[in-house]
Amino acid sequence: MDKKVYDLIIIGMGISGISAAIYAKRANLDVLILDKSMPGGLLNTIESIDNFPSYTKVSGPDLAMKLKEQLDALEVECKYEEVRDLVDNKETKEIITNNATYVTKYVLIATGRSQRTLGLPNEQELLGRGISTCALCDANFFKGKDIAVVGGGNSALQEALYLAKIVNKIYLIHRKDKFTANASLIDKINNTENIEIIYKANITELVSKDECLDGVILNNGTKIDVSGLFVYIGFTPKTKFIDGLDITNERGYIVVNEKGETKVSGVYASGDIVDKKVYQLINAASEGVLATLDIIDKLK
Ligand SMILES: Cc1cc2nc3c(=O)[nH]c(=O)nc-3n(C[C@H](O)[C@H](O)[C@H](O)COP(=O)(O)OP(=O)(O)OC[C@H]3O[C@@H](n4cnc5c(N)ncnc54)[C@H](O)[C@@H]3O)c2cc1C
Repeated sequence: MDKKVYDLIIIGMGISGISAAIYAKRANLDVLILDKSMPGGLLNTIESIDNFPSYTKVSGPDLAMKLKEQLDALEVECKYEEVRDLVDNKETKEIITNNATYVTKYVLIATGRSQRTLGLPNEQELLGRGISTCALCDANFFKGKDIAVVGGGNSALQEALYLAKIVNKIYLIHRKDKFTANASLIDKINNTENIEIIYKANITELVSKDECLDGVILNNGTKIDVSGLFVYIGFTPKTKFIDGLDITNERGYIVVNEKGETKVSGVYASGDIVDKKVYQLINAASEGVLATLDIIDKLK
């Protein structure tokens, strides 16, 4: 029996992939959306979002749940599998997961990016034992304790503000002499009493006791006693499974045109995985939609 050929397979059930799936299904495309984890992607790690139109304030997991409800209402086919390879057979593409191989005319890669780590020797062992990249998931373990947050962009400052409501004190460590986050976040940080900012510093050592984090040592030799460390120092795009396609730039992001098309015919990308200036929910959603609209046009 011939293998089923989908019109479109979307890899990634973050806001970008889900927005694409909504438009694809409403245009009657035979669409499948895959994710190795759960619907919502990064949304599941964000405590509070206050710049998404139609919500004054919404929690990331709540928004993720709403997106999944919309997929269910439209009866979009969803599978929870990890994509391991993407093979370009010109007219069709093969998507190889940990469980099966699927064939499709078009593919949209919306796999996002993961948060970067410090690269220190015992960091991996201390992940989940004091070190975290998700304030929403882990903040309550540090109730009333002293912690450090490292980073200087929007994510670091946004999450530090959330953590400040739960922990006793935060050392906000940034390698430069000013933050790159937006002005309103910087104002809030400067006006939060239990946040002490340490500029121009790098963490060079992680101190552990009984296999848990017990402090950090900075490049000037200072030891800071903290039982928690939240790391927000940038991202690594999740593109391992497309190594053979040669569609990424030197930083590992996928290069696309204004329609979301890569240089490989039939392969599109959208959201945080793409090389661009703005990494926000609203444009991740719109890029998924624009790519789908182009695919719908091409299928006519
Ligand atoms: C701490 C933090 C706070 C933020 N706050 C805001 C905010 O307030 N407002 C705002 O607009 N933006 C915010 N952002 C940015 C926003 O979250 C992202 O721009 C957006 O979520 C990106 O969506 P995406 O769909 O491109 O990727 P993601 O949400 O990362 O989704 C990608 C999905 O792909 C899946 N995947 C990856 N690899 C594979 C594979 N090989 N096989 C199958 N599935 C795979 C993942 O499991 C994931 O579900 C924040 C980001 C962070 C880190």
